[in-house]
Amino acid sequence: MEIKTAKYSSFCFGVKKAVEAAERLLKKGGKDVFSIGDIIHNPSVVSALSSKGLKVCDGLNGLSKGTLIVRTHGLSPGIIDEAVSRGIKVADATCPLVKKSQGIVKALNKGKYHVIIVGNARHPEVEALKGFAEGGVTVIGKTKELEGCRFPSDKVGVIAQSTYGEDKYIEIVSGIMRCGFKEIKVYNTICSDTIKRQKAASELAKKVEVMLVVGGMMSSNTKLLADICRAAGVETHHIEGADQLDMRWFAAKEQVGIVGGASTPNYTIEEIIKKIKKGKVENRC
Ligand code: SF4
Repeated sequence: MEIKTAKYSSFCFGVKKAVEAAERLLKKGGKDVFSIGDIIHNPSVVSALSSKGLKVCDGLNGLSKGTLIVRTHGLSPGIIDEAVSRGIKVADATCPLVKKSQGIVKALNKGKYHVIIVGNARHPEVEALKGFAEGGVTVIGKTKELEGCRFPSDKVGVIAQSTYGEDKYIEIVSGIMRCGFKEIKVYNTICSDTIKRQKAASELAKKVEVMLVVGGMMSSNTKLLADICRAAGVETHHIEGADQLDMRWFAAKEQVGIVGGASTPNYTIEEIIKKIKKGKVENRC
């Protein structure tokens, strides 16, 4: 059996940067280092950082000291200002591409454009982006949500959640174009890593008999990779780690493909490959 791994299958640069920043802080013996929400969407990495001392909090409730490490998805400026006013140090691990989107929202808001974010309203990146537009934003996740939508301005600026699907973004932007706005500014804020990863997953899915998509169940980009592989018509399993493998998936299969989400560490992919190979050998005995 051949196991092929997609070209982009481990940490993207934004996640790598955030994990390294957290590790540096914890290594320096930083006391009371905490994040609000998971620093990245991968349970095994978060648990490894927690074992080194990182605390994951829901908010600032009751906190007045220590260091807040801002997750890759960013945080609303209101939360950061509140932390600073309480004397909490802030280490910003927001992905630079997400920071760029935050700057766009801020500038659009300043220019009196109503901001439309195409994405999942409950995703932490989108929740944080909302905080950069004092005038409020509209979040659209599906074209049909545009029906009956009322906007406070006929000037709108549109951006996408960084891990959103390119085709879906184009479809929703086309819908926005038909809403009768006088002026529309559209920004392509889908991150290049996401696009490359989606293309690599789609290409690999067409060449194999079963695809394993590896990453956190809460990870948007991983869920989208699984959708892309299923759309390619291949049997697809979304798993977080080797312990979720079921060797029956590989019975009578010669070609297995693996792709990891942007927050999936390399060691998880390696563990999976090792376990599949071991399982195959054991099955032959
Ligand atoms: S997926 Fe893209 S936007 Fe998200 S953290 Fe990685 S590089 Fe940044």
